Amino acid sequence: MTSVWAVVPAAGSGRRMAAEVPKQYLTVAGASLLEHTLRALLASPQIRGVVVVMDPSDRRADQIASLSDPRVFTAAGGDERADSVLAGLQYLQSMARDDDWVLVHDAARPCLPIAALTGFINQVLADQRGAILAQPVTDTIKRCSESGLVLETLDRNQLWRAQTPQMFGVQALREALKAAIQSGASITDEAAAMSLAGYPVQIIAGPACNVKVTVPEDLKLAELYLKSLHAGH
Ligand code: C5P
Repeated sequence: MTSVWAVVPAAGSGRRMAAEVPKQYLTVAGASLLEHTLRALLASPQIRGVVVVMDPSDRRADQIASLSDPRVFTAAGGDERADSVLAGLQYLQSMARDDDWVLVHDAARPCLPIAALTGFINQVLADQRGAILAQPVTDTIKRCSESGLVLETLDRNQLWRAQTPQMFGVQALREALKAAIQSGASITDEAAAMSLAGYPVQIIAGPACNVKVTVPEDLKLAELYLKSLHAGH
């Protein structure tokens, strides 16, 4: 039986939040973003272990209760998100088989409902094909020049906003990320590395509440979603 693992990149500095602490430590709905994210993943009995990738100079780990869960491990992150994910995958090599599955989920996406996570894992395992959660674009999207002039209107029927989790074979993702980093390509998610390596990537519709906290306004949205998720329990 293959196992499902998770890697959580949480080594970013959260520059765009302009906050005093990295964004994964900001408190919403009674816990830090990272704590909410880990609870969301640990709610799934299908996930055998979670590798949290952190900045080695990070002194706030003690505040995260879920880091002491026996299914949670920590690894040291790198300069870019892709380097941090690769570090997590390399750590996994001591526990996981090459044909196991790994889902990568950003620490900054704390509102992942258990039903969406379970549905996603089950579909990937049934299809035996790597996939990402994503949301169809509903706004009209413009491509603009640097000076702010509209150059063209893109066909939104083909556009999706990629979310995490993104789930692939452990070895395939490790090799694809290594190759993408070596080539100097700008890789902002796992699917980009897998596509570059020639793998098909399946889109699975994700819930609107699975927002990424990037700028301060996102915190309010995350708080609303977390409160409504908890109220549903
Ligand atoms: O900056 P961005 O919002 O794209 O970050 C997404 C996730 O990647 C965050 O959870 C962040 O902590 C993580 N990250 C990381 N290592 C980096 C940069 C970002 O683990 N060097």
